[in-house]
Amino acid sequence: MNPFTLLIKPSGSDCNIDCKYCFYKNRSAKVGTGKQRMSLKVLEKLVKDYLALEFGINGFAWQGGEPTLMGLGFFKEVVRLQNEYKRQDQVIENSLQTNSILLDDDWCEFLHENNFLVGISIDGPKNFNDHYRVNFNSDGTFDKVMAAIKRCKKHGVQFNTLTLLNNNNVEHVKELFDFFVENDIKYQQFIPCVETNPKMGEVADFSITPKQYGDFLCGLFDLWYEYGPEKISIRDFDSIISFCLSGKHTICTFSKQCSGYIVVEHTGKCFCCDFFVRGEFGLGNIFETNIAQLACSNIKRKFARNKQKLPSKCLVCRHLDVCRGGCMKDRVVIDDLQNKQNYFCESYKSFFDYSMPRFMQIAAKVASGQQDFNR
Ligand code: SF4
Ligand code: SF4
Repeated sequence: MNPFTLLIKPSGSDCNIDCKYCFYKNRSAKVGTGKQRMSLKVLEKLVKDYLALEFGINGFAWQGGEPTLMGLGFFKEVVRLQNEYKRQDQVIENSLQTNSILLDDDWCEFLHENNFLVGISIDGPKNFNDHYRVNFNSDGTFDKVMAAIKRCKKHGVQFNTLTLLNNNNVEHVKELFDFFVENDIKYQQFIPCVETNPKMGEVADFSITPKQYGDFLCGLFDLWYEYGPEKISIRDFDSIISFCLSGKHTICTFSKQCSGYIVVEHTGKCFCCDFFVRGEFGLGNIFETNIAQLACSNIKRKFARNKQKLPSKCLVCRHLDVCRGGCMKDRVVIDDLQNKQNYFCESYKSFFDYSMPRFMQIAAKVASGQQDFNR
C-alpha cells in the first residue's frame, strides 16, 4: 500500500473565530457549539491502527475548524500515544494548522519540544487580514496573530503562514510580499479563494477571478525571483521546482491523483478529501472498518483516479505535465463538451507561460549544486 497522510479534524468544524469566508462552517450547523470533540478512545484507535500500517514516515496533519480548541492536554496525549505505538524506525511528522489565537507560551513550548510544524493563517497586513478574519464580535484578529507569531519565534517553533487570496488582498501582491519579508516569515503559502455561494449557486463575492489569480502568481514569482528563491519558500513554487527536478509535485493540486491523504473527522469517520467532506465521499468509520481498508476502498480509489479524467482542453495543453488540470474542487466550469474545466485554467496558463523557463533555470542550478535550498 502507498503511504498516506492523515488529515485530522479533532474539533470538527468548530472554531473560536468567525471568518467571513470560511468554507467549512457552511457545511455544518454545529459551529461554535463545542460539541464536536474527538474522544480519547477515537484518538487511541486512530494512532494505533495508523502506525500499525508500518509506514516509514507517518504524517499527522491536525486541522479544523480550530484544532487548538481540543486543549494542550489532548495534544500531549497525541504525542504520548504516538510514542507508545510507533516502532523505533518509524518517523512521526506532526503539523498543526491554526488561527493561532490560543497559542500562548505553554503551547509554543510544547510545539517546539515535539517538533510540530505549525501553519498560521494570516491574510497579510492588518488592513487585509482584519477584513474577513474577525472574531464573533466582528473585531479583527491581526494583533493576536502577530503576538502568536512573535511567541513562536521566541520559542523556536517551526511555522509557515497560510494566506487566503480573496477579492480584498489579491491585487496587492507587493504589499503582501513586503509584509512577510519585513516580518522575517520565510515559509509562505497562498491559497486562491473560489467558493460557490451555497444559496445562490454563484461564485461568492469574496472569491477572486482567474485573471486576478494569474496576475498575482506572476507578480509574486517576479518578487520572489528577484529576492532570492533560496531565501524564501513559497509552497506552490517549491512544488514546481520539485516537479522540474524529479517529475513529482509536493502538493496535490498539480499531482496526477488525489491520493495522498485521507480526512478523519472527530467521530472517526473518514472522507476522501478536505473539500469533499460529504455523503458520497464518506469512506466509513475507523471503528467499523480498518483504516487500511478505508484507504484502499473503491470509493477512495475512484476518487483518486477521477483527477485523471481531464477535459480535452487539458489533454492538448502544453502545460499538462506540470498542471494536471489543477484541483478537483476548482473544476467547476462546464465547457462545450460538458466537461468540467478548472476555474483557474486561465491563471495557470498565463503563469506557466511566464515562469516555467525561469523555474527550469532554478532547478538546473539546484541540480548542479549552484543553488542551495536549505533555507
Ligand atoms: S493550464 Fe488549463 S488547460 Fe492546461 S492543464 Fe492546466 S487546467 Fe488544463
Ligand atoms: S480535490 Fe484538490 S485538495 Fe482534494 S486531493 Fe484532489 S487536488 Fe488535493
